[in-house]
Amino acid sequence: MLYLDNSATTPILPEVKDKMMTYLTAEYGNPSGKYYELAVNAETAVKESRHYVSKLLNANEKEVLFTSGATESNNMVIKGVSDYYSDQGSHIITSKAEHSAVIDVCAFLEEKGWEVTYLDVDHYGRVNPDDIHNAIKDNTLLVSIMWGNNELGTLNDIETISAICKEENVFFHTDATQVLGKIEVDWSRLDGISFLSCSAHKMHGPKGVGALLIRRDQYGKLIPLTPLFHGGGQEDGIRSGTYSVHNIVGFGEAAKLSKERLKTNQAKLERLENRLIEILNEKFSDNISYNSDTKDKIPGVVNVRFIGLNNEVLLKKLSPVIAASTGSACSSAKPSHVLQSIGLSLKEVRESIRFSFSPYTELKEVEIFKEL
Ligand code: PMP
Repeated sequence: MLYLDNSATTPILPEVKDKMMTYLTAEYGNPSGKYYELAVNAETAVKESRHYVSKLLNANEKEVLFTSGATESNNMVIKGVSDYYSDQGSHIITSKAEHSAVIDVCAFLEEKGWEVTYLDVDHYGRVNPDDIHNAIKDNTLLVSIMWGNNELGTLNDIETISAICKEENVFFHTDATQVLGKIEVDWSRLDGISFLSCSAHKMHGPKGVGALLIRRDQYGKLIPLTPLFHGGGQEDGIRSGTYSVHNIVGFGEAAKLSKERLKTNQAKLERLENRLIEILNEKFSDNISYNSDTKDKIPGVVNVRFIGLNNEVLLKKLSPVIAASTGSACSSAKPSHVLQSIGLSLKEVRESIRFSFSPYTELKEVEIFKEL
């Protein structure tokens, strides 16, 4: 079976599993204990992983906080900033194509009296940076715009958006879950980004671990925000809870490999995507239409509409040979709000399928599409 749902999750790499096993078995110490070897070894492992994650993003190690994944990181920023700075603003800007872990948090805050602007996106799901500029008001506190879209693969112009937010002196959060290991992310250069969310299981690491990057000020102090969890004071008191050492170690290894292999993986993903498009065009020509852009996108993600066919029926039929999905695994019960945000009718949404590759997919495996 050809697995083409890598935007939903990825299998862990053998190197990642091997490293994790050690910390699930022999090395079971709690890194917060200090007086014996098991604890020190666990602490060293967490430190090493933090190093690899920070290297992948070109960040300072102190700016990396481990969380349980991107859902938590997104919640932590949006709830934590709105709570901490409630006397300094009451308006948040986001877009209609964000992941539910951003949109639903904003909707929750709206119920608590916050004003939220949900910006329109273009027909590939991209936010126009000018719209952000125009939407910023005196009471705007936070802008949250994803780096790469999980359903379409569209990349936002994070460089321009972060520069606007810096100039306007508003916090900028970006959900970078889908772009890690796919494109270069340079946190140090893009210093208008205040917060960045990411997750290990989209890049061949384990599920249940991710990170939130928080920018340091000129004195080395992280931007303060109200913690989501109170407790033992881990992660600078911002994210309490015993370290999930095996998961963190798995994340670190996946980040290390993603950094080492970034260029080869990118090239491979582009080849896989191009071959899929070639075959689909040959086979289905006028009966398909692409929802994804062809440029400024995450390599290896293709969202395509099979005109006149129901996506669920088609996916079930394909499932013995190809595993793909209608869009986000996190909101699969509802028709995609992302595809609706790019102007698709409900009928068109129900004809759309997302194929998402891994760099470890074999090129020859794509040929199976010829036999459909
Ligand atoms: N944001 C985006 C863009 C995602 O694709 C996902 C995963 N579907 C998440 C957030 C949630 O990540 P996690 O599974 O780590 O909570």
